[in-house]
Amino acid sequence: MAGTLKNIRIVDCSATILSVEHFPRVHISWKLEPTSQNLTHLKFFVDRGESPAELQQISMAITANTRYEYVDETAMLKDFEKMYYYRIRAVEFIDGSPAQTFMSETFTWEGKPDLVGLYVIDEHLFAHRYVYGVPVMVFQKRHDGMYCPECWDEVLKRVTKSNCAACMGTGKWHGYYPPIEAWAGLEPDPKTVDIADWGKRQPGQTDMQFTNYPLLRTDDLVVELKPNIIWKIVTVRMAEKNRTVMLQVTRLSAVNRTDAEYKIEIPEDRRLAMVAQLEEREKEREF
Ligand SMILES: [Zn+2]
Repeated sequence: MAGTLKNIRIVDCSATILSVEHFPRVHISWKLEPTSQNLTHLKFFVDRGESPAELQQISMAITANTRYEYVDETAMLKDFEKMYYYRIRAVEFIDGSPAQTFMSETFTWEGKPDLVGLYVIDEHLFAHRYVYGVPVMVFQKRHDGMYCPECWDEVLKRVTKSNCAACMGTGKWHGYYPPIEAWAGLEPDPKTVDIADWGKRQPGQTDMQFTNYPLLRTDDLVVELKPNIIWKIVTVRMAEKNRTVMLQVTRLSAVNRTDAEYKIEIPEDRRLAMVAQLEEREKEREF
């Protein structure tokens, strides 16, 4: 049966770390845009994941017309590089079955950029998409979840196959989260100025300028879609404003063609679509 509610909008989502040691707690809150509809059959759920590409429900059903908040007590906060993404999902039930779903944006405990920060992000994103950037897919490495059933040694606590297709050498089952499409400023010419100022690049390395989504970590993969090159992130530096990430500059290292990472599944239709967008732009520039 189709749902009856219309234009349910979940806004002002926020995540705040309350405590880290002993009892890790993250306070999640949100609001509903005012509505005069009957919300008796609307229930809220909190979803969470290490990657925005894969979120799973962590809360029980929360009824409407209550305080819209939830305390996440299962986050692993001691790893300071770790970032969780949250999302609020509102589901309308009819006769006990879900009839329709309304989602919030995904959010983290990072602050939101102010107007100047947004301007910086927008300008770079424009440059990456329409001026000099290239299309990429980001595969975030799994740090949570099941160990690899094929090659993880419980006693030695390490992988036992270097070319394992089940975990791509990460030790975690499936290895990486589903890809996130993005545009990035890759430095193709090794003679260009070292924006990151890390000194000389090794052969097979390059730098990438990236905006704020998704947040990158060491060992994540970046697939440069046109030549189909897989890069691994070696270092990440961030430009922040008011503790909010605007830009990320990363050093990338080319993955060896024979390594397990090349077994990763790149959605071919999406790859071709993004490469076509790039080629269209390159064609325009000739006139
Ligand atoms: Zn494995």
